[in-house]
Amino acid sequence: KLSRRLQSIADRVTHGSRIADIGSDHALLPVYLVQSGKCPSAIAGELNKGPWQAAVKGVAEAGLRHAIDVRHGDGMSVLQAGEADTVTIAGMGGSLMSMILETGWLEGKLAGVQELVLQPNVGEDIVRRWLVERGYALQHETIMEEDGRIYEVLHAAVLAEADAHNESLYDPSFLPLHFTEQEGKELLYAMGPLLLREPSEWLIRKWELELEKLGRICGQMSQSDTPEAREKEAAFRREMSAIREVLGCLP
Ligand code: SAM
Repeated sequence: KLSRRLQSIADRVTHGSRIADIGSDHALLPVYLVQSGKCPSAIAGELNKGPWQAAVKGVAEAGLRHAIDVRHGDGMSVLQAGEADTVTIAGMGGSLMSMILETGWLEGKLAGVQELVLQPNVGEDIVRRWLVERGYALQHETIMEEDGRIYEVLHAAVLAEADAHNESLYDPSFLPLHFTEQEGKELLYAMGPLLLREPSEWLIRKWELELEKLGRICGQMSQSDTPEAREKEAAFRREMSAIREVLGCLP
């Protein structure tokens, strides 16, 4: 049985697609997807030797060596164009994830890939911005909790009218507030345009925790008297009031 976090990722994968799971560690996700019959085949990519060996072992123990190819290498360098319909990347920071995606994109590895299922641990805004820049349409966002941590799963697809789709998705006038266009967009990237349209208890909880964290940082900064600290504190306080304003106006 998969963990709740991995299950939320598996749930977004389109039935019948060949997946490539990058940074697969024990290959739990590809093993589940092939075992359950959702995916006919999979590629598990790993950069580091230990996790790569764990993936090889996991696949062998599941008796799935004929269907899951475990490959050793950096990001999407393990992938040939046209080999996968779905790319999943989970359990790493958003900046590393978007670097992997960008390199893969530049090297043409994403040609033919129809969907991306991404679970950044932090820096979700960076991933959403990358998806918009490269013309992927955000289709679905999940937010859930596991073992006291809150996780987001972003599902993006190739769509002919992706730019128009994203344009209306990230339209800041959806937030009926007095932010500038730019500030509104930043908030949508950070908080998730789809999550905000149907706010769950976990979305609220995540941003309440973020407010607490920012409050603690501001408290520490107010003890320092340098102009830089003052400026940073003021920026954090602006961010906090923006978050409070968004939370206060959710449907
Ligand atoms: N995807 C699994 C999950 O969500 O449970 C494993 C997450 S684990 C925390 C992150 C994995 O990414 C590690 O096994 C690490 O070795 C791998 N990794 C980090 N950078 C990578 C890269 N550039 N290319 C491939 N794998 C990478």
